[in-house]
Amino acid sequence: MADYARRKELIQGISRKIKECIDCPLHLTRSNTVPGEGSAEAPVIFVGEGPGADEDASGRPFVGKAGSLLTKILDSVGLSRDEVYITNIVKCRPPKNRVPTDNEQKTCAKYLMAQIAVINPTVIVTLGATALSFFLRDNGVKMTEARGQLFDWKANVKIFAMFHPSYLLRYPSREPGSPKSKTWEDIQKVRKMYDRLIQGEKI
Ligand code: SF4
Repeated sequence: MADYARRKELIQGISRKIKECIDCPLHLTRSNTVPGEGSAEAPVIFVGEGPGADEDASGRPFVGKAGSLLTKILDSVGLSRDEVYITNIVKCRPPKNRVPTDNEQKTCAKYLMAQIAVINPTVIVTLGATALSFFLRDNGVKMTEARGQLFDWKANVKIFAMFHPSYLLRYPSREPGSPKSKTWEDIQKVRKMYDRLIQGEKI
């Protein structure tokens, strides 16, 4: 079986396990699990905090207002959602969109780690402070300082920090120095890294 087909099958297997998961209290209030979607061999993946109401209703990641903005951000540099992989730290919606607890994040991490092991990305773009804190194991991260920076994570895998699109919805200004203008700079960096990785170059 071709490598991509094998990876896709493995990702589908992880999604099936997520669908049946009752390992943390978030299963009690979910309508649907939201495993993730995109390319099973993406060199760059995007990881947010957790599903919101639209994602819970549809079973797809980043499809509400914030998701639509993420799609536009990707579009702005000619990247489609199919060329990357998009997922979250927890795969079930926390009630009232609260931040998932440390225990929920730790319990659900096995699925994200399994997805990363199959996809084998070189860059993990974290969207927002919760996702960045999860990977860096540092609850004191300041997004205003961390965004646009690359961090070492595991051998040959780096973390690139970006603002969460829901944060950008609260600060719509495009003035120089605004979160949106910084995000514009950041996604161009992501595009450059993506191109290098697709060509087999190091970042
Ligand atoms: S959030 Fe993760 S660990 Fe908790 S029930 Fe959903 S899939 Fe299972």
